[in-house]
Amino acid sequence: MSGVGTAPAPAPGPRIEPLTSGELATATDELLGRCCFPAPPGRISCAVSGGADSLALLALAVASGLQATAVHVDHGLRAGSAVEAATVAAAAARLGAGFEARTVSVDDGQNLEERLRTARFAALPAAVATGHTMDDQAETVLANLLRGSGLDGLAGMAPGPEHPILGLRRAETRALCDTLGLGVFEDPTNDDPRHLRNRIRAELLPLCAEISGRDPVPILARTAALAGDDCEVLDDAADLAVPDPTDAHLLSAAAVPLARRAVRRWLRDVGATAPTTGRGSGHHPPSAADVARVLDVAAGGAVATEVSGGWRVRRSHGRLYASPGVATNVTPVHTDEAAVDAPDWALPAVGPELVSKEALAQRIAELGAAITADYRDDPPLLVAVLKGAMAFVSDLSREIALPVDIDFMAVSSYGSATKTSGVVRIVKDLDAQIEDREVLVVEDIVDSGLTLNYLRRYLQARNPKNVEVCALLVKEGEQRVELDLRYIGFTIPSSFVVGYGLDVDERYRNLPAVHRYRGEKT
Ligand code: 5GP
Repeated sequence: MSGVGTAPAPAPGPRIEPLTSGELATATDELLGRCCFPAPPGRISCAVSGGADSLALLALAVASGLQATAVHVDHGLRAGSAVEAATVAAAAARLGAGFEARTVSVDDGQNLEERLRTARFAALPAAVATGHTMDDQAETVLANLLRGSGLDGLAGMAPGPEHPILGLRRAETRALCDTLGLGVFEDPTNDDPRHLRNRIRAELLPLCAEISGRDPVPILARTAALAGDDCEVLDDAADLAVPDPTDAHLLSAAAVPLARRAVRRWLRDVGATAPTTGRGSGHHPPSAADVARVLDVAAGGAVATEVSGGWRVRRSHGRLYASPGVATNVTPVHTDEAAVDAPDWALPAVGPELVSKEALAQRIAELGAAITADYRDDPPLLVAVLKGAMAFVSDLSREIALPVDIDFMAVSSYGSATKTSGVVRIVKDLDAQIEDREVLVVEDIVDSGLTLNYLRRYLQARNPKNVEVCALLVKEGEQRVELDLRYIGFTIPSSFVVGYGLDVDERYRNLPAVHRYRGEKT
């Protein structure tokens, strides 16, 4: 069929003349009833990306009578991100709101979503309002559920001045922008399936709708509201049961759900005030594993533990103390970064340095300081595993400012020259008694982790107080068993290494640095 076509009308461009208060009031009247902005007069900072939700937030904030400022954060990841900022500036001008642009730099790569979020929050003013809607709340609940979070995670975001438009649907924010003629920026990262949230939005929620035959968003939002109410009651109960979360006795005596709650809030406060982690970390609840490990420390099951955000929690005289950590602060070492060749006498079998003499010395001093702090009430017996750990235990022990005892074990593992089998023979046992003592195993390198796993069980059978491990090197991604390593020197790429105590056929232990090995193994 042929005919005379009319060219499609050009899409209406964003209007530029200021909106009148009448226009704004008419468009927002019904929506404002479901928002929870603070009562005017007052100021409010709104995080505005240029998308429909955040532009609607800004319009509603202005309509509610507040003096609003749009704060735009440019991540510098996309070409043309300046256009976004211009979109926001234009909308702010039309609405009679203030405008501020901030820039952060984030590299593309792993955990991008998380890093973007942290950088964004660090750049935004405290108590900034965000344009999260009921649809975002539903996505948050599902994301938290998939993460295995407890009731607090299921409660999602709390409605209030920081989340004033949680009662609105995304379609409503879009419609409001259209009505007001606000130019909306479509963020292409919203379609990127690398982000969990995008897959929840595009795949999981539609599937839930299809299976249940209902719109799951209000249902999930109601779940969040109910969980939020329960959390408030439980928080009050936790306050009563554990008024001081650093009191190890109170924590151990309280009902576990209340003790968990008290620890979680304490860790969050510690993280929120941490100068290196800033606001972003304060927004993320500590993991369930962190909380469980801290409770273990409180109960005397361990002397100290590392928690996310680079913190270490230790117990001393019945109190818990949090300080900057050591094991999570591990430096990954990559070959291309260290091109210093092996000494002539070791060439050509020994490759370039992987961990330099200087890096070893610095890290071992850090480990020694952490061990000194953690064990000051009860100095440990250092159990070094021969022969590989000889250099490490010698240097490490001299960085520990406590009266530690040192003993040695020698083990031989059955297996090929470069891979252990996990079946270990004790060639030399301990001289010292370890019953009721703090034991710290000093290991050279953890590959599959099978040797260490065996050793730990072997030592544990002798009823020590605790067995912890300080491993100088851990090979990335090679562990075949779950290992709780209290102190780690360096994570290294998975390749065979020699030097600083590590050998091939008894050779190269005396190299002062750790090197890749590229010769034959017998
Ligand atoms: P796992 O049981 O963790 O697989 O192996 C641990 C033991 O294997 C270490 O204590 C060490 O003796 C040996 N080992 C593992 N990887 C390396 C390596 O890259 N170089 C050397 N020299 N020994 C290694």
